[in-house]
Amino acid sequence: MVTLPIRVYGDPVLNEVTREVDDIDGRIASLAETMIETMYEAPGVGLAANQIGVQKRLFVYDKGEGPQVVINPVIVESDGEWTYEEGCLSVPGLSWEITRPNAVHLIGFDLDGREISIETDEFEGRIFQHEMDHLNGILLVERLDVDQRREAKKLLRAMRVNLRPGDPDGLAQLLGE
Ligand code: ZN
Repeated sequence: MVTLPIRVYGDPVLNEVTREVDDIDGRIASLAETMIETMYEAPGVGLAANQIGVQKRLFVYDKGEGPQVVINPVIVESDGEWTYEEGCLSVPGLSWEITRPNAVHLIGFDLDGREISIETDEFEGRIFQHEMDHLNGILLVERLDVDQRREAKKLLRAMRVNLRPGDPDGLAQLLGE
């Protein structure tokens, strides 16, 4: 079993926009396998490639029905509103109630290069939006409201993870302030 360390809050790779996958080949299949094993070991329900330091546009997830891979995903439609307590393997041990659209329509490709089109909502819809954020270089901390951000700042300071000089809590850089 091959797993890789999950990059955590403060690691700049998490703030970069990932690149489209040009060829769905054996290397992408190996990457997806490593991502799935890393996700299960964590354990978590979703993992984006840049969470293990690879700037490719794919994520894996398991909503309880086995592992799935989505390559070059795009959310083409979203609707409604749903508040759910959301955590992230890259911000370990913390979670917040976050409101996002409820229903989403996700398209992309599987490992065989076949098109995927999934219309879903609630838990699975939340996984998709969270992983899409990762692929766009956005962490869930950026989805917090003002009060939650204040609390997050304290907690993250206490964690003291990979903080850069000149940005002692790392949040200013993360939030683009
Ligand atoms: Zn995450």
